[in-house]
Amino acid sequence: MTERQNRIVANVDRHREQILAAERWLWAHPQTGFTEWEAHNYLKAAFTELGYALTEPGDIPGFFTDLDTGIPGPKLCIMGELDALDIANHPESVNGMTHCCGHHAQGAAMLGIAAALKEPGALDGMCGSIRLMMVPAEEMIQLAFREELRQKGVIHYMGGKVEFLYRGYFDGVDLCMMVHGAVAGPDEPFDFSCVMGYNGCLAKTIRFKGRSAHAGGAPHRGINAQYAAMLGLQACNDLRETFQDQDQIRFHPILMGVNCAVNIIPDEMKVESYVRARTLDAMIAVNKRVNRALTGAALALGAGVELRDRPGYSPEVHDPAMMRLIERCCTDLVGADRVRFDYSTWNTGSSDFGDLTCLMPGVQFNAAGATGAGHGIDYCVADPERQCVNSAKAQLLAADALLTDGAAAAKEIMAGYQPLYPNKEAFFATIDNITLDKDAVIYDADGNATVDFQNS
Ligand SMILES: [Zn+2]
Ligand SMILES: [Zn+2]
Repeated sequence: MTERQNRIVANVDRHREQILAAERWLWAHPQTGFTEWEAHNYLKAAFTELGYALTEPGDIPGFFTDLDTGIPGPKLCIMGELDALDIANHPESVNGMTHCCGHHAQGAAMLGIAAALKEPGALDGMCGSIRLMMVPAEEMIQLAFREELRQKGVIHYMGGKVEFLYRGYFDGVDLCMMVHGAVAGPDEPFDFSCVMGYNGCLAKTIRFKGRSAHAGGAPHRGINAQYAAMLGLQACNDLRETFQDQDQIRFHPILMGVNCAVNIIPDEMKVESYVRARTLDAMIAVNKRVNRALTGAALALGAGVELRDRPGYSPEVHDPAMMRLIERCCTDLVGADRVRFDYSTWNTGSSDFGDLTCLMPGVQFNAAGATGAGHGIDYCVADPERQCVNSAKAQLLAADALLTDGAAAAKEIMAGYQPLYPNKEAFFATIDNITLDKDAVIYDADGNATVDFQNS
């Protein structure tokens, strides 16, 4: 490492205790998307204490702040996520929630970055500016709650980053970066990893509608919404052989029982799912087939089905040149044998970071230190030194490499980047087309049906 890099690392080490304490505090205060006020307030107080002036949306958690070098140049956004998951059976869950995706570790790392950047001379030699941002609601869960927020006009999109994008908080940002925790135990020989990208997703809420009746005495008077739902899912399963390998489709529905009693024919069955895919086109094409299958199942049993589709997250494609720069910084920090950047592997998960990579070069890489299964009941951050302190160091080394030397590296990456959309308006126009609200089967007085399961 150069003397300059050693100074950056020392700037983080000076705040090591605060980073580790933040990791513990945030782990103990998990809240799900768009309700993460405890983490928001904790980090807001810590950032304010460091002397940052924050811009806050106010009606939802999250904030950002800008550090200007005073010399014109690109704006780099570094972000951390605030939200936890609903997973009541995790042994350390609080009010049914746990940080079993490790987002709390991102907040701790962000605090380390914010503190290190306030050390004397930290910005010397850099140009442009750094935006530090805490974003809410990465996990696409509680779709009914989010739809309610959407209907009230509080949010416009289901994910925090895409909502922040909509609100203009990424206007003027040229590059973006974040670190997500990775599951790798203390004996596993890597500290940093990165894949080429992630699937996009759209969010589905499906409501089969039947008619209630006495399950024993008069089932012939009922229409069983649960059977319609099961038939719909069976039809979707039979579609799976039409999914093409290169599209990496994932469809993972769950039944969300409502009005359930064993002696009543269920008149309603809600299903939530995503359709995930490697490209937006594949996602839309498969979703159309899925909606047709669900509609057909409802028709088969004389039931109705309401289809509600919402834009989820865009496929996330990491900028390879930016990946290479970050890989070099990670290698400088921990050695090549502890860095695994893979330029061909694709992951079938999804993140709203993907919405950003449609519009600007960005990389989401991973810091090890967690054990157990991500989103699992055995998840914990066993090594916060690797997942939080190292994460802060790596991100600062990357920021420095991007913005020093007249930001030559950042400018080269920006020049080589091809956005998927000419601007954010075009992006939103495209994803808005995913929105669908249909009562897909309408019966007339004779029992004939009209079906309508897609936007014209
Ligand atoms: Zn997650
Ligand atoms: Zn996550």
